[in-house]
Amino acid sequence: MKNIVLFGPPGAGKGTQAEMLKLKYKLIHISTGDVFRFNIKNETELGLMAKSFMDRGELVPDEVTIDMLEAEVRKNPQANGFIFDGFPRTESQAKALDVFLEKNNTDINGMVALEVPENLLVERLLNRGLTSGRSDDQDEGKIRNRFHEYETKTAVLKDYYQNQNKYFGVDGVGSIEEITQRLEEVIDQL
Ligand code: AMP
Repeated sequence: MKNIVLFGPPGAGKGTQAEMLKLKYKLIHISTGDVFRFNIKNETELGLMAKSFMDRGELVPDEVTIDMLEAEVRKNPQANGFIFDGFPRTESQAKALDVFLEKNNTDINGMVALEVPENLLVERLLNRGLTSGRSDDQDEGKIRNRFHEYETKTAVLKDYYQNQNKYFGVDGVGSIEEITQRLEEVIDQL
């Protein structure tokens, strides 16, 4: 199995790149943000709960996010592996993922991180907000809050995976194709 954590701040291009990589490596792409948005659209209990956090640009609590992620993995027992996009976002999520994968006799091959300077990220997010319909992309205050959550809770995961020799940084500035190629050079070695 090949299990990849695709990492990077909001607007780094994780979703776009995951769409390319899942085809090439025949992996299941799980975006926790997409699963939450699906639940919001369908007005499920999970969606209603998640919405209040997402609307403020805050992280959804770990327990519900971890349960949801594990349920998504379990839906794909025949998978070749997974691309985790937007998960883990806290150290507890990373630890829970390690325990869960170990129980299933597998592990994370590597965290591949898209590195993009912050001024470019805000520009990309505001541009995406023009067409994505995502309210959290349309308001600079919410965007700043998402960066704050990233800096205070998520960025530490670089150390978490580096300590396991599983962190691989990739330059996330360039055309979509150039960046896909850089990611593939890393993932081919994992
Ligand atoms: P994304 O689509 O990855 O930008 O995520 C959009 C929003 O969904 C985030 O700002 C959070 O509110 C929520 N979210 C997505 N993934 C997670 C996660 N792993 N942990 C907590 N909240 C999450």
